[in-house]
Amino acid sequence: MSRQTLSLTPELYQYILDVSLRENPVLTELREFTLSLEEANMQISPEQGQFMQMLVKLMGARNCIEVGVFTGYSSLAVALALPADGKIIACDVSEEWTSIGKRFWKKAGVSEKIDLRIAPAADTLQQLLDQGLAATFDFAFIDADKTGYDSYYELCLQLLRPGGLILFDNTLWSGKVVEENSEDEDVKAIQALNAKLHRDERIDLCLLPLSDGVTMVRKR
Ligand code: CA
Repeated sequence: MSRQTLSLTPELYQYILDVSLRENPVLTELREFTLSLEEANMQISPEQGQFMQMLVKLMGARNCIEVGVFTGYSSLAVALALPADGKIIACDVSEEWTSIGKRFWKKAGVSEKIDLRIAPAADTLQQLLDQGLAATFDFAFIDADKTGYDSYYELCLQLLRPGGLILFDNTLWSGKVVEENSEDEDVKAIQALNAKLHRDERIDLCLLPLSDGVTMVRKR
C-alpha cells in the first residue's frame, strides 16, 4: 500500500490498458496511423481519451471546445461520447494535421458534430465571445502551444457555464515543472499557469498524474 500515486512500470501500464481500455476501432486506427508520424508524442494516450469520454458523459456535456486538435484523436473521442445534438468547436492552425483527423471523423460517422476552425485559437474563442456565447459551453480541452495556455484559459473560462469543466493537458511537462530557474519558455509557462490556477478563486481545481499531467478546472 502507498499513500502516493503508484509509479507505473511498463507491465502495470499494459495491465491497465488490458483490463480497462474500450477504444472505438476508428480511434485505434487513427492512433496507430498517428504513431507513424514524427510528432506522434503530441497525441493523447488512449486511456486519457477514455477518461475524457467519461467526463463528457457524466456531465451530460453538449457544447465543447478543443484548443489544439493535431490529428484529431481527442476531438474524435469527445465527439463519440457526445449525444446526437452535441457539438465540439475544434481550434487549430494546421490544415495538414487536421486533414488527417477529418478522414477518421468521417469514417466514425461524427463529422457533423465537429466544427473545425482553422485560425489562431485565441481569435476563434474571442469570436465566440463576440457572438454572445459567453457561459454557454460545458467542456473545454486545452492542448496546444504551452505559452498560449493562459490566454486560452481566460477565454475558455468566460465561454464556460458555471459548473463547466476545462481540462489542460501536459501540466507536468515530462516532470520538468519541478526545475527551478528554468530558461525554457514552455516550462516557465506551465509553472506560471499551475501557480496561478492554485490560487484562482474562480475555480475548483485538481491535478491528476495521468499521462503527462492533466489539470481539471471547474468554473465556480
Ligand atoms: Ca498534449
